[in-house]
Amino acid sequence: MLTQTIKHFVSRLLATPPSGPVRLPLDKHGIDRRLVSRHAIKVCEVLNQEGFDAYIVGGAVRDLIVGLQPKDFDVATNATPNQIRPLFRRARIIGRRFQLVHVVFGQEIIETSTFRAPSSGEQETDEHGRILRDNVFGTHEEDAARRDFTINALYYDPLKEEVIDFHQGVADLKNRVVRMIGDPETRYREDPVRMLRALRFQAKLGARIDPATEAPISRLAPLIEHVPASRLFDETLKLLTCGHAMDCLRELRRSGLTKSLIPLIDRIFEEEGGEAFVEIALSRTDDRVRQGKAVSPSFLFAALLWRLVEKRWAAETAQGVQRNEALIRAADSVIEAQMDKLAIQRRHQADMREIWLMQARFERATVRSIWRMMEQPRFRAAVDFLQLRAEAREVDSVLAQWWMDLSNSGDERRSQMIDTWQAGHTGARHLAGGTTRRRRRRHRTPDEAPSASNPPAE
Ligand code: ATP
Ligand code: MG
Repeated sequence: MLTQTIKHFVSRLLATPPSGPVRLPLDKHGIDRRLVSRHAIKVCEVLNQEGFDAYIVGGAVRDLIVGLQPKDFDVATNATPNQIRPLFRRARIIGRRFQLVHVVFGQEIIETSTFRAPSSGEQETDEHGRILRDNVFGTHEEDAARRDFTINALYYDPLKEEVIDFHQGVADLKNRVVRMIGDPETRYREDPVRMLRALRFQAKLGARIDPATEAPISRLAPLIEHVPASRLFDETLKLLTCGHAMDCLRELRRSGLTKSLIPLIDRIFEEEGGEAFVEIALSRTDDRVRQGKAVSPSFLFAALLWRLVEKRWAAETAQGVQRNEALIRAADSVIEAQMDKLAIQRRHQADMREIWLMQARFERATVRSIWRMMEQPRFRAAVDFLQLRAEAREVDSVLAQWWMDLSNSGDERRSQMIDTWQAGHTGARHLAGGTTRRRRRRHRTPDEAPSASNPPAE
C-alpha cells in the first residue's frame, strides 16, 4: 500500500509541469479555426460569457494541429454539470460515476466535462492498481495531468485562438512522439487500456512511442485481461478502425497484447496465407474508414478469424462430417475460443456466424436457396466477404462477382440471373467457366484449407 502511495506521489510529481502552462499563439499551433466545429465554439462562447473557462480539448486539438479531421469535439470547463446544463436549450447530464453534459445541436453532440483531478493514490483500485472510481472535480492543471499522453492534454481556446499546453504536447506532436504524462507503469496499471491507446496513436499519427512509455508495455500486457469486457471491445475496435489496422495489429503482436485480446490471431499468422488474408481484409477496412464509411464489427472479426474457421472446417469434413454441419462446428469452436479472451457481443457473434455459414452456400446454391439467402439480413455482408475471399484467391472471382451483381440488382434482373444459374445446372462451376478445371480433383493434404476451387469432400 505504501509503495503504491509513493509511486502515485512520484507519478504526480513527474506529471507536474515544471513552469506552468505555455500559451501558444496561432503561428505556433497553426489550427485553422474554419475546421473547428461551430457548435464547439458556441459552447465555449456561452460558457465564457458566463465567466467560466472553456476549451476544446483532447483528440480534436491533437488532430487539428496535425491536419487530420477530428472525429468529434469535446469541451472541458471549470463549470460544474449543474452550472452548464441550464445555459443550453438542449443539454442533458449523463454518467453516474463522473457526470458530464451532452450539449446537443441537431446531429452533433458536444461532450462538455468539468475539469477533473488525477489519481491521488487514495482512489479505490483493484489489486493490480486499476482505478475503479475516479470522480473528483479538479483544477485546469489537474485536468491536464490526469490525461493519458502529452499530445492528448492540449486545450484550444477558440476565442483567443490559443493553445494551452501543460506538458509540451505540441512539441511531442510536431516530433511525432507518444509520451505518457507521469510514470508510465503507474498510469498503465491505473488503466491498462492506455496500452492499446498508445499503439493506436502511434499508428494513426505515424509516430513513435517514447522509449520510457513503450518499455513497460510487454511486461504489463496481461493486465488488459482485468478490464471490463465491453470497454476492451470498444478500444480494440477503435484500434482496428483507426485507418491503420495492419500496423496496429503488428504492434499488438510485437508487444504481446494479442495474447490477451485475440490469441487466435497469432495462430492465424502462422498458417500459410493467414497473414495475407488478414492484410487484405484490414486494408479494405482502412479504405472504408478513410472514405468515411461505416465498418461493421462483425465483418471485421469474421475476417480476422476466418482462416481458423476454414482450417477447422476442412478438418471436420476430412473426418467425414457433412459440409454444412462441419462449417457450423468450425464456426462455433472458433467463436468459443475467442470468447475466452476478448468478449464479442452476442449480436455480433450471431452476425459473424451468419456471414461464415453463408460461404458454404454460395458455391452450391439451388434456385430456391438463392431466394432464401437473399432474404437473410447479413446477405450483403456475406457477399462482401465472398469478395474478400476472391481477392485472396480462395474462390473464383467470377463466382464472387456474380453474387455481387445479384446483390446489386433489382428483382427483375435477379430473376433473370437466377434463371441463368439454373440453366447452368452446375451452378458456380458453370459460371466460373472452369468445369473441367473444377472437376479435376486435386490431391489435398488433410489440413489444407477448403475453398471453392478446392472444396472439402462431402
Ligand atoms: P479519438 O480520436 O479516438 O476520439 P481521443 O484522444 O479523442 O481519440 P477519446 O477516447 O475520445 O480519445 O478521449 C478524449 C480525451 O480524454 C483524450 O484525448 C484524453 O485526453 C482523455 N482520455 C481518454 N481516455 C483516457 C484514458 N484511458 N486515460 C487518460 N485519459 C484519457
Ligand atoms: Mg475523441
